[in-house]
Amino acid sequence: MAYDPNNIFAKILRGEADAHVVLDEEHCLGFMDLMPQSSGHTLIIPREPAESIFDLSAETLAVLVATTRRVARAVKAAFEPAGMMILQLNGADAGQTVFHIHFHVIPRYPGEGLTLHARSVAAPAQLREHAARIRAELDSAQTTD
Ligand code: 5GP
Repeated sequence: MAYDPNNIFAKILRGEADAHVVLDEEHCLGFMDLMPQSSGHTLIIPREPAESIFDLSAETLAVLVATTRRVARAVKAAFEPAGMMILQLNGADAGQTVFHIHFHVIPRYPGEGLTLHARSVAAPAQLREHAARIRAELDSAQTTD
């Protein structure tokens, strides 16, 4: 399937759709998932247009993975979850619903299951507050790797 430049993440990258951004860098953008599966669910995407991990350049993939870990560290510091899922889906049959490659950072809390994937939109005020907490951790981070 050819990359669709009108997918929602491409629109967010072009500034045509809003997002609660936590990180805005040369190669990657990080923002809150609109329909979080847990408190602090964050997405990291490359600026390079690629549908899945199979279409992305090796150079950008390396930056994307390192950036994902950096954002995940900030989410960990901000939300102090017991565990953290970092995942990435390729193809509709794997559950991918937005066809611009992205990593999910999903904090896990004791005794709390996940809400359903891409199902309930969170309150904007909550997403704004969560993004601010993650941005604050990224700003004060001691490491850049
Ligand atoms: P996928 O199913 O492709 O792995 O994940 C897509 C993710 O994007 C889902 O977790 C879904 O909640 C999220 N999502 C879908 N539409 C939007 C949107 O307009 N804005 C944001 N921030 N997230 C979205």
